[in-house]
Amino acid sequence: MFEKILIANRGEIALRIQRACREMGIKTVVVHSEADREAKYVRLADESVCIGPASPRDSYLNMPALISAAEVTDAEAIHPGYGFLSENADFADRVEKSGFVFIGPRPESIRTMGDKVCAKQAMIAAGVPVVPGSGGALPDDSAEIQRIAEQVGYPVIIKAAGGGGGRGMRVVYEASALINAVAMTRTEAEVAFNNPEVYLEKFLENPRHIEIQVLADGEGKAVWLGERDCSMQRRHQKIIEEAPAPGVERALIERIGERCAEACCQMRYRGAGTFEFLYENGEFFFIEMNTRIQVEHTITEMITGIDLVQQQIRIAAGEKFTLRQRDIHLRGHAIECRINAEDPYKFTPSPGKVTNWHVPGGPGVRMDSHVFTGYTVPPYYDSMVAKLITYGDDRHQAMMRMDIALSEMIVEGVRTNIPLHRELLQDANFIEGGTSIHYLEHKLAQRT
Ligand code: ADP
Repeated sequence: MFEKILIANRGEIALRIQRACREMGIKTVVVHSEADREAKYVRLADESVCIGPASPRDSYLNMPALISAAEVTDAEAIHPGYGFLSENADFADRVEKSGFVFIGPRPESIRTMGDKVCAKQAMIAAGVPVVPGSGGALPDDSAEIQRIAEQVGYPVIIKAAGGGGGRGMRVVYEASALINAVAMTRTEAEVAFNNPEVYLEKFLENPRHIEIQVLADGEGKAVWLGERDCSMQRRHQKIIEEAPAPGVERALIERIGERCAEACCQMRYRGAGTFEFLYENGEFFFIEMNTRIQVEHTITEMITGIDLVQQQIRIAAGEKFTLRQRDIHLRGHAIECRINAEDPYKFTPSPGKVTNWHVPGGPGVRMDSHVFTGYTVPPYYDSMVAKLITYGDDRHQAMMRMDIALSEMIVEGVRTNIPLHRELLQDANFIEGGTSIHYLEHKLAQRT
């Protein structure tokens, strides 16, 4: 096992990784920008290194600074967390070429899955169902593009092969708008992702977002750890996640989960990963794979009892992979609410000093947060300040516990989206379960 790991991230996930390391007896090096110098998790680490000014480009995205921090502290491995450089194949490459272990997949896997056309092809090869579409990059010939779209059926969505973060996508409802939309998406993709390749797929009008968590050893062994329903979104940002997904036939999910594990075996995938699907009318359609730990990994931990961050570290260290599918049992129900420092209805960020921070507790309540009374939420980064997770024997109990936990939580000094969460916990459709990815946007639109 490693003696020392460098954590190339900030905030709650830096603390989460630190906790996993401490439990495993591994020393930690936390890097931080000038803006994060006073954070408590920085002081809790065995060592800390300032890697630059507040701007992410100069600190958390600064590859040479991160590698030198690992060199000067003699860390053996680097955990990238989520966001920042976690899905950057060049970073993973540089980490390994500099003699450190990257706690994540091989650079080639990150690269393949980062190209959505390649990712879809890899999924088709493994028998994972994908959204019907062009089956590869679109040709230049307009008549041929028209023919493909006719065959798939309108509405269609044009997507950039190199796209990400909800960018580089365009929905087309009729043939007359198609060629122009393809040209515009191509130009945008060239500028934004340095890759003009675009593809086309059927636009699903009212899907849910359901994803499958996997762990794999890089040598052909893999397990899947249930699913998460992340349909409660605003602008493609998840705000509430739950596991399992309510009202979906177990046998169907099991078939999909097995296919995902099989895809990992075929690709010799290494580490933790997530297969994202759209689910509509009883069918699953793969859209993309995330090759890192995700924000919402916590709810899977609650229902499986497996520490995913520790598993990532064990796999990276080359420990024998002992997890077997038959040992993975899903028990109970878990929900996560992402607490953001923002106006609950206008969604403008609300950085500043937290003058009072009181967190809930009790049976089945988990709080993952780096915040404390007196902490200043910096304006430079993501506005998420906490993840509140509740667990129950069933969905009803998990929801009740979330409702109570939210009512106990006190945050003063900055605004948060807690009022929105509380409202959603009372929403009849959410309580019933199975709302689509557009539900929250529609609900918010009705209010105004
Ligand atoms: P990104 O990597 O930018 O997040 P995704 O492929 O995951 O891109 O798509 C982001 C979101 O766009 C999805 O969560 C979904 O809301 C929407 N989307 C993508 N593909 C489709 C599709 N074929 N039909 C309907 N919505 C889609």
